[in-house]
Amino acid sequence: MTDPRRPPDEAWREAAESGTRLLEGRQEVVRPSGAGGQTESAVPAHASSLRSVAISRSLHAELLAWALACRPNEACGLLAGDRPVASGGRATRFLALRNAAESPYRYLMDPQEQLGAMLDLDEGDEVVWGIFHSHVASSAEPSVTDLGLAFYADSLYLICSLADREPHVRAWTLSDGQANEVLLRIAD
Ligand SMILES: [Zn+2]
Repeated sequence: MTDPRRPPDEAWREAAESGTRLLEGRQEVVRPSGAGGQTESAVPAHASSLRSVAISRSLHAELLAWALACRPNEACGLLAGDRPVASGGRATRFLALRNAAESPYRYLMDPQEQLGAMLDLDEGDEVVWGIFHSHVASSAEPSVTDLGLAFYADSLYLICSLADREPHVRAWTLSDGQANEVLLRIAD
């Protein structure tokens, strides 16, 4: 699956050439869209139709803990699920990954760790339910780069903001250059 909107970004190119799909973020906050959506999608129904999802309290706590542990840099990782979130799948566990960019402004999932995680998911018949990263000093909204590098229309993008006194996580679907917020509920 190639993305026609791929940015002329060295990291992206390296990722493409290595055959590993990497994710990267930068902190230019973009307003979630809603208006001006002239890009009516022709792709099959995906996660963008989601209105709300739930994750367990312990999983939520793991996300916050990892975001805090990686500070001052952005944190990243994958959430495994029994099925894709768009098909009603549930998040089962969190795989924390090293931010190879070691930056407060962007993230790049460590290629080796990401590959290992994907193999691990395959073996366990699990899927990428969600893609997690943190914003250390900005809101939990997707950045322009987050949108440009959003290759997983079937996944949920979870962003933890550490900008406020209380760290918090918000969930988004990113597809066709559009961000749609999905209400994230914490289940007991
Ligand atoms: Zn980001």
